[in-house]
Amino acid sequence: MTRGLHRRSVEAVVAFWLFLCNWWPAVAQPFLEADLTSPARLILILESMRPGSSDADFRRAAIVQTLVDHGISRNNIRVEHLDLDVKGDIAHRTNLINMLQHKFGGSPLAMIITEQRPAYDFLAVDGKRFHPQVPVLAIIGNDRQMPTTSRPRVHVLEQNDLQATATLALRLLPNTRHLVVVRGDDDDSQAVLHDIRAGIDHLSPAPIVELTSNLVYEKMLERIGSLGKGSIVLFPDDYVRDRSGRRFISQDVAEMVGKAAKVPVFGTRDLYVQHGFLGGRVIDTTATGQMTAKLALDHLAGQLALSSNALNLPAISRDMVDWQQLRRWNVTLKRVPTNAALVNRPLTLWQRYPGQILSGFIIALMSLVFVVLWQKRQGAGGRNERASGLVNGTTPAPDCAEELEAANLRLAMLSFVDELTGLANRRHLDHMLAHESQRANRSGHPLSLIMIDVDHFKAFNDRYGHLAGDDCLRAVATLLNQICQRPADLACRFGGEEFLIILPETPYQGALERAQAFWHALGKRAIIHDTSPTTTHVTCSIGVLTSSAPPARSPRELLALVDAQLYQAKNSGRNVIRGADLSHPLPDQATRILTLARQTYRDNRSTRSLKPDLSPNPGALVAVGKTAPN
Ligand code: GH3
Ligand code: MG
Ligand code: MG
Repeated sequence: MTRGLHRRSVEAVVAFWLFLCNWWPAVAQPFLEADLTSPARLILILESMRPGSSDADFRRAAIVQTLVDHGISRNNIRVEHLDLDVKGDIAHRTNLINMLQHKFGGSPLAMIITEQRPAYDFLAVDGKRFHPQVPVLAIIGNDRQMPTTSRPRVHVLEQNDLQATATLALRLLPNTRHLVVVRGDDDDSQAVLHDIRAGIDHLSPAPIVELTSNLVYEKMLERIGSLGKGSIVLFPDDYVRDRSGRRFISQDVAEMVGKAAKVPVFGTRDLYVQHGFLGGRVIDTTATGQMTAKLALDHLAGQLALSSNALNLPAISRDMVDWQQLRRWNVTLKRVPTNAALVNRPLTLWQRYPGQILSGFIIALMSLVFVVLWQKRQGAGGRNERASGLVNGTTPAPDCAEELEAANLRLAMLSFVDELTGLANRRHLDHMLAHESQRANRSGHPLSLIMIDVDHFKAFNDRYGHLAGDDCLRAVATLLNQICQRPADLACRFGGEEFLIILPETPYQGALERAQAFWHALGKRAIIHDTSPTTTHVTCSIGVLTSSAPPARSPRELLALVDAQLYQAKNSGRNVIRGADLSHPLPDQATRILTLARQTYRDNRSTRSLKPDLSPNPGALVAVGKTAPN
């Protein structure tokens, strides 16, 4: 009882703990946000460009998401697009600073994040008095000629690594003879040229490096479009204005350069690589955004102290190659540095359907294991069966044993059963008669035999056909079987249309009664036989014999004696019973009767003068021997 309570309380604690873990972010969020919802915790992001400048958008999205993921409420993150890239005039700047003062002047800020140099320069120069003590996290392309500011700050430097990009380009395309660098009208062109050459001058022959600084925008695109085999284009992502003084957004220029070029183009921005450039040492926009957000969080948590001595940190960059472009320019994968990011690669089946493949594999494996186990089991079973057969010598499988037994039984049956009538056959009759006669001779008990022959059966066959004849024989057999009342009585088919009944230990009177019972039953059965000279139904002639030792009689003798009675019956006009009781015969009587009867029968058959006895009449029974039936 106490134990059960104890277990239930432990389960309750565990369940509550699981619930808390499951819902922790939702439960924790309001508390975390409470810390930051005070106005002092606002984070202001100042964007140089308009919304829609894709790399800035991606970076900002990464910053905001990382801040939110670490518990900062979206309400405390404000984004202002200064649009300084295109509009750089003083009136615009004055309006901007007024707008910022109006919106955020009264709210102490936790941090300002500036995206790209124009926003930073604006804050340092025009926004000198806008929250002057609030630290700045500045993402900048380069730190050349930075305006001085006393704000605590950190610089995340997204510097274009042209040297590394050129090196990667020449590694992928070693047959390059001509490298064209897309530049606007900048005063650092010579520095860029020097930078690139330092990376490739060791090659022999070193490719020619060409800058487009002296061309207006349209001519620059024309020049790019005219480049042929052996040339490549390098776009460093700081095309700000052209020779004519027109201002541009680098991203738009990158897109046009990509379209105009009929040769591979390399760049320094991950977004360009994913939109038609072959590759480059690129700034990882998302990773840099995440890094910036983490610097802000560290500062808010008091783990990163900032001062007016700027902390300079490089942005995150890496080699990146576009798989589709590699195929387009026939560059083999072997040339790609192993640490380079490969983008736009079609997913393998495994990457696309890992769950399905894994579950399919598990199912296949389980099926295989099942099949192997099953086969093993079958094999073992088979071996066991064979083994037991060998050990026992001749013991067959259980099924076989049953079949064999049934077959043996069938054979045995066939050997003593008459197939047509189902009675004992001649072979069995001989066997049983020998057995019973011996027994009778030993015991002195009377042994009776009844022999039956169907009258005019040939005529029956002729009239009704052989199959009907078979049916008739079966009907007679059934009736004979019915008169065998004791277990030892046996009805047999003697052959053809002749039958014999063995009645062991049966006196003459009993045998006559059995014969009469059959005679009556056959009359009652009334099987039509309209061509019979005897009557309109099937009839039988019946001989009865009873013998008892002494003298001992052989089966052969007994058969001859009963057969003689049958002949008598035939001679008497058929459809009658004739019998002889030899259990107490007069000396030589049997032999004499036998000889005479056979002679008479033969005579009658040959002359066919015998008149049929048309009415079954038990009174016609004649006992040949000691006793008459009535
Ligand atoms: P009887 O009155 O003198 O005995 O004349 P019967 O025609 O019966 O005697 P017979 O010996 O001349 O003819 C016997 C016939 O029995 C001939 C034979 O075709 C027929 N028989 C014998 N065995 C079979 C049997 O298994 N099936 C059929 N349908 N007929 C049989
Ligand atoms: Mg016959
Ligand atoms: Mg016959």
